[in-house]
Amino acid sequence: MADPYRSVLIFGAPGVGKGTQGSLLGCIPGFHHLSTGEMFRNLDPESEQSKTFLDYSARGELVPDDFTVELWRDYMKQLIKTGKYRPDVELLVLDGIPRSVAQVEAMRDLIDVMGLIHLKATDEGELLARMQRRATRENRFDDADENVIRTRWEVYYEQTLPVLGAYDSKLIWEIDALGSPCRVLSRVLNIVAPVHEQCFANALE
Ligand code: AMP
Repeated sequence: MADPYRSVLIFGAPGVGKGTQGSLLGCIPGFHHLSTGEMFRNLDPESEQSKTFLDYSARGELVPDDFTVELWRDYMKQLIKTGKYRPDVELLVLDGIPRSVAQVEAMRDLIDVMGLIHLKATDEGELLARMQRRATRENRFDDADENVIRTRWEVYYEQTLPVLGAYDSKLIWEIDALGSPCRVLSRVLNIVAPVHEQCFANALE
């Protein structure tokens, strides 16, 4: 079997800014950002896979674990084949996966988790406003409806938060997600830069 991909996980409730931080990190040489939400949204809208995704996401629910991990695994292979992601020199920044304990188990041999960044924000009103703004900007129907957003949060607390218990607490870093993207990024970089150096010490020499 191929070596597991060395990864950092960007973790947190819907609306907390995982995508923003992931994309910012992905602009830095030596990092590759992958958002599973984006992976799903970029599927051919006519495909059965896209229809399955829309079925669940429109209700604010998670797409089934097997389906998600299988799609993710194939997507990773494709990224490597086309040279877009280079596991030997890039740290994978995973945003939105694993999102359940079953996904953690299914991905145990596929990723080597070097750190988990838990973005935390408790101001629900601010998160709600952020999500409704991005719904218009990014044409995301799942963020336009307050009821769907509330379901997404419930799903997060019930199915995703337990993921934290599946990793060694030494790997978990809690980060305050409030503030400008730049301010939050500086906090994230304090954690991620040493992880990156540790992974690619030889490549950086
Ligand atoms: P996101 O863009 O990360 O907010 O994800 C949007 C939607 O995609 C979620 O509400 C889920 O329906 C689906 N999704 C994204 N990642 C996963 C995952 N790892 N497992 C199951 N469903 C996912």
